[in-house]
Amino acid sequence: MGNPVEAWKAEKHGFDVWSNVLSYAAARTPMNDIDSADLERMKWHGFFYRKREKPQRYMNRIRLPASELNAKQAKEIAYLAYEFGHGIIDITTRANVQVQGLPLENIPEIASRLERVELSSKQTGHDNIRNVFGHPFSGLMPDELVDTRQLCHDVTALFMGSRDYADLPRKMNVCINGVSSHNAHLWTQDISFLANRDEQGRVMFHVLIGGTQGQNPHLARHLPVFVAAEQVVDVTRAILDLFRAKGSREKRNKARFRFLVEEIGVSGVLQWLEETLPYPLEPCLREPVPAASNDELVGWFRQRDANLWTMGLSVPLGRMSWRQLEGLAVLAKRWGDGQLRTTHEQGIAVANIPNGFKDAAATDAAALGLSVQVDPLEQNTMACTGTQFCNIAVTETKGHMFQLIENLRRRALKLHGIRIHMSGCPSSCAQHFTADIGLKGVRVRRLLGTREGFDVFLGGGIAGRVHMGLPYKLGVDVDQLPTLIEEVVTEYYTRHRAGQSFSAYWREKLQTQDVSKASDGDYQTATWICESCEFLHLGEDPPIFCPSCAGLRRNFARIEEESTEQNESSSDGDEAPIRADGFVFAANDTDLVAAQGLTVSVAERDYALFRIDDKVHAIDSECPHEGAPLADGEINAGVVTCPWHGWTFNACNGCSIDPTGSDVRRYETQVENGKIFIRAGKSLSGQTTELEPSQASRTSLARPSEAGLTVVEVLDEGADVKTFRMDNSGGKVSLDLPGRFVNVCVTVDGEKMKRSFTVSSSPSRPEQIDLTIKLNPLGVVSRHLFESVSAGDELVINGPHGGFVFNPDRHSEPLVLVSAGSGITPMISIVRFLVDRGLDVPVQFFYGARSEEDNLFGEQCETWRRARDSFRYEVSLSAGSEAWRGSRGRLSTESILQQVERVGENRYFLCGPNDFMSEFDSALQQAGVPASHIHTEQFHAESLTTS
Ligand code: SF4
Repeated sequence: MGNPVEAWKAEKHGFDVWSNVLSYAAARTPMNDIDSADLERMKWHGFFYRKREKPQRYMNRIRLPASELNAKQAKEIAYLAYEFGHGIIDITTRANVQVQGLPLENIPEIASRLERVELSSKQTGHDNIRNVFGHPFSGLMPDELVDTRQLCHDVTALFMGSRDYADLPRKMNVCINGVSSHNAHLWTQDISFLANRDEQGRVMFHVLIGGTQGQNPHLARHLPVFVAAEQVVDVTRAILDLFRAKGSREKRNKARFRFLVEEIGVSGVLQWLEETLPYPLEPCLREPVPAASNDELVGWFRQRDANLWTMGLSVPLGRMSWRQLEGLAVLAKRWGDGQLRTTHEQGIAVANIPNGFKDAAATDAAALGLSVQVDPLEQNTMACTGTQFCNIAVTETKGHMFQLIENLRRRALKLHGIRIHMSGCPSSCAQHFTADIGLKGVRVRRLLGTREGFDVFLGGGIAGRVHMGLPYKLGVDVDQLPTLIEEVVTEYYTRHRAGQSFSAYWREKLQTQDVSKASDGDYQTATWICESCEFLHLGEDPPIFCPSCAGLRRNFARIEEESTEQNESSSDGDEAPIRADGFVFAANDTDLVAAQGLTVSVAERDYALFRIDDKVHAIDSECPHEGAPLADGEINAGVVTCPWHGWTFNACNGCSIDPTGSDVRRYETQVENGKIFIRAGKSLSGQTTELEPSQASRTSLARPSEAGLTVVEVLDEGADVKTFRMDNSGGKVSLDLPGRFVNVCVTVDGEKMKRSFTVSSSPSRPEQIDLTIKLNPLGVVSRHLFESVSAGDELVINGPHGGFVFNPDRHSEPLVLVSAGSGITPMISIVRFLVDRGLDVPVQFFYGARSEEDNLFGEQCETWRRARDSFRYEVSLSAGSEAWRGSRGRLSTESILQQVERVGENRYFLCGPNDFMSEFDSALQQAGVPASHIHTEQFHAESLTTS
């Protein structure tokens, strides 16, 4: 046999090393004196030698099937870490736990103490089947399709202790997921079972096979069958038998199950199953769909029993102290029933906490340094073990990642769900290939030596579609990572199209971009400052003594490089000097693709670039109507359509087509050596384009983002109208101006739905978002919200969207607000914004409702009317009671225009029935009000009928 690993495996089974381990332990045999094959065989018992540690130690990986852990077991693991190890416990991306720093002589005692609490570390390494897990909250969630915990245990029982299944050509990863949202990790397992409800209402499992991370990453293939729960163990057994019978043992790097699938094809696997299973499997051609977003595992989760909660805790990079784990065991017994769950996101959760004990449990967790409020940077980052303990790592990881988090925090960089995963070598234990930003540790040559560096991959997919990341830059020095990450995230925020994810943006861009390798030129030697005398030293490390004041080395502090500007015009961070001929660099030619615009920022001004008939054209970036980014508009035959209100322009010369008379300026461009230059600030009509003061200070509109927000309160506002108040602390959804709307994404009866609702709260209070919603009896989403959503539930919010906004930087005229029914919501947001900001803009507010009961926010508006001379408020009821003292009848154009003061000088915001709005719009224009001063809300009327 050519493969030396298979040779020593054949010589002695991994199970049989245990008697040797007992002898080695009794004799305290130094690691160097133990047969190297025996050191490898110890992994069959879950003990991994750690040659890097001095004195040399062992790591113990403990299997937790279905992510289940009880308080007694957690306490025992904590004590083992304290008594024998370094006192630290790592949670892995397979929801195992690892205890580091164990001496050889204690291994027998550790194994028997694990056994006493019904834990095992057997078969957790080398060519074995690793921890079988599903959703970490399986059995607890109200909406899961099937509780897969017993299946995880049954599959585990199939191979535990089996000499055959402990002798595979390579390792196997198995996952059994019982919820309809299928997380991306499931596409990189050797075998994944994914629950689905079929057309007949049965819960059946899709099967994916042959996925891997590691050196040769590959997404799993769909096996076109449906498997019932009672068939899962049989199918797993048959696939393991196939792997044992036909998997190659010749070359280790070609021995994973995926290579066998490639060799015999999915049809070969199907044929094997047909021949070996005692029953036929039901065919299913429909492929499973990946989850729309990452699993949310930190926070409070209401369980199937509505009186019980799961408390998901954030464990930064999965590392806990023994005290934290011991404390959690106590907490789980005190406030829950002792059940804990580890998560594949390197976190931990306490299950079954009754309603009344939530605060007490969270307080106890906080005392342990663990929180239900996740830090956004920690939530989106993951790191493997790295050189601190791992034998084959080439770089440190957890330490670098903690420093990276701190650095990004100082730069105030918001990730908004963009995930960064760091692995210390190509094995990809931190799954860097399926992260938005994947970092793979490498050694890089710099100057006369080598340093730690990372290959950077962008565009790995986890939400919506599953993708492997594409290489972006190779061999980036570890110190350059914060700047690089800030650049790629900022470029995405400033240049992506509406609705385009970070991964989609970069995948599209990297299709046409060569991978670059960082060089000595990219490497900046660190600068150190002596804090005693301010002497500056340039070098890899600080000097031993300060050459100026002879102070000790510890007086030196490293000076961090300046963070880059938020709106850089080029992705490589070049400054953009104005050339002698007046042209300024705007973008790389490859950044601009046909049929799509690109917004670029040059000399503090934005331009929209378009490629039409292979020529590059530049015009003003903003639509003169409401400031929408023209580069985001649809382009057809050289005509760009404003993404907000449909105004159209010639993308080559800026002429407005519909409506006419609102041309934007165009600018000369040059393309040289793959770079696009603009003659900035000088339009082709010859005029110098100075910004109007209002435009120059214009607030940029926030880019939409998606986040799960917890509903903190549901308020009754009137007949069939409720306000859903959500916790937006941390600004997960960044609201900028009043009047915008968000999409609410819900799953009703297994179907994903999205509906738009205007925000009624003010963006001046970004920590909360209010959606005031009227029940539409025929609308599925509003009915779902009214009937099924209460405080504590989470809603997925995507936004902000829309151009129906009051912008104090652009709108200085008195305001006339006209709305009817629940069209009042954007108006309330505008008035709340004015009040909060102390802006004394005169407001005339006309509102039409049916009856007193439908008069939304009446008391609030009356309070404003009494408190502010500049706020005029008129309500007209079409079916008011006899007691109503105000105006009666429907709002009419005529009556409003009779009451409005100085009709032509105001800015108008209209939100109500479409007919009324278009009639009022025409009447205003006839009265001489410029079209740009009339804002109408179009989506809202639609949303009332569809949601
Ligand atoms: Fe070790 Fe490499 Fe796995 Fe990190 S990715 S834990 S460095 S093997």
